[in-house]
Amino acid sequence: MEKHIGSCRCGDIEFCFDNDPINSTFCYCKDCQALTGSDKWFGLWVPRENFSFTKGIPSSYTRSGDSGKEVHYHFCSICSTALCAEITAGNFYSVSATSLKNNNFTPKMSIYASSAPSWATFPNNVPKFDILPPGMAG
Ligand SMILES: [Zn+2]
Ligand SMILES: [Zn+2]
Repeated sequence: MEKHIGSCRCGDIEFCFDNDPINSTFCYCKDCQALTGSDKWFGLWVPRENFSFTKGIPSSYTRSGDSGKEVHYHFCSICSTALCAEITAGNFYSVSATSLKNNNFTPKMSIYASSAPSWATFPNNVPKFDILPPGMAG
């Protein structure tokens, strides 16, 4: 079983997850733009039971997702790195690929492309969805 580890940039918070993510996405929604200060968030979708914080206690911020269910954002209160978003509607964490010690993952799809700014960049040869793939809960 493979273990993936990551941390915020000051090192106060560390996390890990087991096994490979069930999905890896570039998300261009307005919320991810605000969160990252860029056109997208590179999220690795990790089932809740596979993810844990191993050092420090992150701060959090909660909003209602498109489904009406809560999304909890976890970040470091010292260096402000955004570490992950807990998507309660889907029972998974969207973990920041950028925060991994070794990120060898690549995006499998682009989502919320209809919210992207005009200057956004999209990866080549990856399916692009206006919102989510049909049948996927947000
Ligand atoms: Zn930090
Ligand atoms: Zn998003």
